[in-house]
Amino acid sequence: MLELQDLCKKYGRHTVLDNMNLHIEKGQLFGLVGPNGAGKTTLIKIIAGLLELDYGSVLVDGKQTSTKERRSHTKIGYMPDYFGVYQNLKVYEYMDFYTQMYGYKGKEAKNKVEENLELVNLLSRKDEYVDDLSRGIKQRLCLARCLLSEPELLLLDEPTSGLDPRGRNDIRNILNILQGKGMTIIISSHILQDLSQMCSHIGIVDNGKMVTQGPVEDILQMEEQSKPLRIRFTEVNSSLLKYLGSHVLISNLTIDGTQTTMRFEGDSMEEAKLLTTLIQNGARICYFAREEGNLEKLFLRITKGE
Ligand code: ADP
Repeated sequence: MLELQDLCKKYGRHTVLDNMNLHIEKGQLFGLVGPNGAGKTTLIKIIAGLLELDYGSVLVDGKQTSTKERRSHTKIGYMPDYFGVYQNLKVYEYMDFYTQMYGYKGKEAKNKVEENLELVNLLSRKDEYVDDLSRGIKQRLCLARCLLSEPELLLLDEPTSGLDPRGRNDIRNILNILQGKGMTIIISSHILQDLSQMCSHIGIVDNGKMVTQGPVEDILQMEEQSKPLRIRFTEVNSSLLKYLGSHVLISNLTIDGTQTTMRFEGDSMEEAKLLTTLIQNGARICYFAREEGNLEKLFLRITKGE
């Protein structure tokens, strides 16, 4: 659905997007994660055709898109990180305004408004003023507005930022429904944990580069491997410690009495192999496990931020 090839964008001398490549299949819910200033908004605006790129190409459903290529834009829905609204508009009037801008009239326009308000669970609040709504509800309304053009590719810039857990959950549920309908969705956030719970694939952006991308399970596995491994022995001897100290997958070994903690860059197969080897060499082990970690630590490790 989306192919970015060698995308570059500079503001003056400042390189904001640096040779970015990305491939997103139809129907994927793709999370774009990165610290503030990483280039997420710039990237999303270029994909949406709102900002000119300096070099590279953006293919949406196989067709080149740019600020001039308006035909491809109808396939794209874009929700900015800032929600702007004219004053004194009610929820229904807000939706009706945009529906008419898309060329719908009469009963068709009414159906369109109601159908999309229903989807984001706001039909019962259609007579409330938009200005008076909470941020979470405004975000749902903005999402409903983006769906009016029936996009195949939906771009959401930080839709969950500043939302409480309920607000985030509401957005997540709506996105799951849309994904179930076959829509391709790209959602950005600076909170990896938020996206790992709702996305099938994730790309981590830092300083204008795509540092890593892949299925969420692979990213979570990276996180698993970043957690320190702790081994407690009933007793330790120097040959055991020497073995651990010289192991190619082990670094940052610390020893505290019979307890050892280390960075172990291996998967669960490698962990099993280490455990077997230690036991075969006479070690008596009463504890062998990875420490609890969290996605944010991994995120901080692989991104530097601005
Ligand atoms: P993110 O969405 O990941 O926070 P942005 O895409 O908004 O990042 O910004 C990436 C970098 O580009 C930042 O260093 C920002 O200051 C810079 N930038 C964004 N827009 C402009 C602009 N219009 N002119 C100059 N620099 C900009």
